[in-house]
Amino acid sequence: MTTLDMNIFDEIESNVRGYCRAWPTVFDTASGSWLRDEDGRDYLDFFAGAGALNYGHNNPVLKQALVDYVMRDGITHGLDMSTVAKRRLLETIQTTLLEPRDLDYKVQFPGPTGANAVEAALKLARKVTGRTTILNFTNAFHGMTLGALAVTGNAAKRAGAGVPLLHATPMPFDGYLPEGGDDPFVWMETILDDASSGVDKPAAVIVETVQGEGGVNIASVEWLRSLAQLCADREILLIVDDVQMGCGRTGPFFSFEAADITPDIVTLSKSIGGYGLPMALVLMKPELDQWAPGEHNGTFRGNNPAFVTAQVALEHYWSDTLLSTGTLAKGELVHRNLSKLTESFQGLSTRGRGLVHGLVFDEPSQAGKVCQAAFERGLLTETSGASDEVVKLLPPLTITSAELEHGLGILAESVGVVCEGAH
Ligand SMILES: *Cc1c(COP(=O)(O)O)cnc(C)c1O
Repeated sequence: MTTLDMNIFDEIESNVRGYCRAWPTVFDTASGSWLRDEDGRDYLDFFAGAGALNYGHNNPVLKQALVDYVMRDGITHGLDMSTVAKRRLLETIQTTLLEPRDLDYKVQFPGPTGANAVEAALKLARKVTGRTTILNFTNAFHGMTLGALAVTGNAAKRAGAGVPLLHATPMPFDGYLPEGGDDPFVWMETILDDASSGVDKPAAVIVETVQGEGGVNIASVEWLRSLAQLCADREILLIVDDVQMGCGRTGPFFSFEAADITPDIVTLSKSIGGYGLPMALVLMKPELDQWAPGEHNGTFRGNNPAFVTAQVALEHYWSDTLLSTGTLAKGELVHRNLSKLTESFQGLSTRGRGLVHGLVFDEPSQAGKVCQAAFERGLLTETSGASDEVVKLLPPLTITSAELEHGLGILAESVGVVCEGAH
């Protein structure tokens, strides 16, 4: 039955599909940190919709609000019309996110994807400054549309554009240069301050504080502060792409809070809708809000059911610090477990912050094999990094410690199966 039912995917779904190849089963239902396939097999989720499910699958608090809203015929499709759902969300953003952090941002609703938020941020930075170049970083990932691809590192993804990707200049991310390599800031400062360097003065710098797709590469708080200072000194706008690392993934709601910096523009998507529903935001300093009405628009900017679940998620999880302290504590647990693995096996290292962690393999092919062995044992994990050499752990923030330990046990077993020379 199952094999027959798989055929339709092979038969008519485009070759572009990806995750279904790593996880060859047909999923049916999900709850919390678990997915169930149509044969009734359960899988623990250390992937969380690539960071779109920080509050777990079908979170009951959000689900109830969503069902109530749908059943009372609340607006579903709203373009950028004012709605009751949007008003409540904006009020909650103001009182729960911005005011307590002393942040003064205007809120833009772009199309409902991370890439669309990035496009809007880049367009706005160029419009406001009248400059075209953007500085981006090695191993960055910002989405698959042309503007976002231009600031993305991965060669295979860039190649898909089919046209030259222009007006971006890559810089070394924190830790990119080999031991003994020059300080990346000396390089950046030198070229920015030299009229003959060949790099035009950029409109903006776009950065992820932790590069999720790029291999769980972590910018230190000192590095982020230096970057913010470098931008401020030269009137270059700082865009933090918090699409994957925002919404509490690293502990605090915004991933840049740990560095105590205030970006000029922030992009959010993935978990901002709370329930896995498409939604994105661009936050900008008020003086940057120089858009003309409709200058960046889109049919699905008003996904009001997502506004409802976004609002409830903010109110329920961000009115106090429980989720964020829990994330840090669970992150410690993950780190302790992964450190044990790196001590037990050769050719392994680990890095992480909050509840995003990477297990890095000197032999890249082992990472994919570990993910496959984990899948066979009921755990979903994906690889990331330039050579897919990193097993990336991205569990829901609402996962219990017992579930975490269970998944980490499967991971340890899978590493044992794959890595020869195991003790
Ligand atoms: C996922 C991601 C994007 C793109 O978001 P989409 O919704 O897939 O377009 C952009 N930036 C970062 C950092 C991401 O992780």
